[in-house]
Amino acid sequence: MEKQLHSLVFPVYNEEGNLNELYEKTTSIIDSLDEYEFEMIFVNDGSFDRTLEMLKEYASKDNRIKIISFSRNFGHQTAITAGIDASQGLTAIILDSDLQDPPSLIPKMIEKWKEGYNVVYAKRLRRKGESFFKLITAKLFYRMLYLVTRINIPLDTGDFRLIDRYVIDCLRQLPERNRYIRGLVTWIGFRQTGVEYERDQRHWGKTKYPFGKMMKLALDGISSFSVLPLKLASYFGFAMAFFSLVYILYIFYVKFFAKGLVQGWTSTVILISLFGGIQLICLGIIGEYIARIFDESKKRPLYIIKEVVNLSDKQKEFIEERKSKI
Ligand code: UDP
Ligand code: MG
Repeated sequence: MEKQLHSLVFPVYNEEGNLNELYEKTTSIIDSLDEYEFEMIFVNDGSFDRTLEMLKEYASKDNRIKIISFSRNFGHQTAITAGIDASQGLTAIILDSDLQDPPSLIPKMIEKWKEGYNVVYAKRLRRKGESFFKLITAKLFYRMLYLVTRINIPLDTGDFRLIDRYVIDCLRQLPERNRYIRGLVTWIGFRQTGVEYERDQRHWGKTKYPFGKMMKLALDGISSFSVLPLKLASYFGFAMAFFSLVYILYIFYVKFFAKGLVQGWTSTVILISLFGGIQLICLGIIGEYIARIFDESKKRPLYIIKEVVNLSDKQKEFIEERKSKI
């Protein structure tokens, strides 16, 4: 009987110091699961260290290793998208390449899938060795996202998850550019469940998610699943207009009945700066949405590939299909 194939998807951006350990750990796990077959899809997201060179070396010895190499850095979520696009397995498991997502969880995820779940996400119990700032902003963000989106994105999960063929095929149909994969997967639905794990420290190197990229991801998460910020802006506008009406009555009262009229520098400056600030924030919120509409309307391809290694013809076709989805 032919063995079931599962795909592992690794986005990689300058991870030369992690690849050896990652390769060793992952292969030792998948070699122990000899009832299945695996392919490891590495998406090189414009690395400028030895990452690609090392991957090619592995790929020349081990044809389970497949490489998709981008022409430049397109970002983590785009790299995952390309990996999923090219996956041929019954399931795809998405893992970070810094060993923060332990490959030892793979068997457990596949077990859950066999129980009939379409998505098995990994839920972080604890996160070791990350800065207080990252922990607190991540916690706050996930809870806020839960409040503003109607979609029940599981708390404290990243992109580390197994998705099965149904979900993969749906994801491959979604053309949008500003992708927030964990949100999209939740949005797609089907039967989802979680397994818990303790998140280790990054094995080597520094995070590839500086504050700017984190903000972009957070804003993508909110703006692609909720228009609440826009609504809040208009609710706030109404509230302020009502408040101004009351204030105007007060001003008329002062004008006609009170003495010492020319005072009021403080309140004038406060009102101008307060309203100026609020207006700019509201414009900014609208701007975030317009920028995304603009991005979508350009209809550029999601990613550009410089080279591929060990991909089958079917996988190349899969990738071509993405272009026709624009
Ligand atoms: N990554 C990527 N492109 C980027 C940034 C990150 O492919 O522009 C990869 C990175 O190599 C890693 C994964 O995405 O495999 C998660 O990144 P990182 O560990 O830096 O994020 P953190 O765990 O700090 O949130
Ligand atoms: Mg990491």
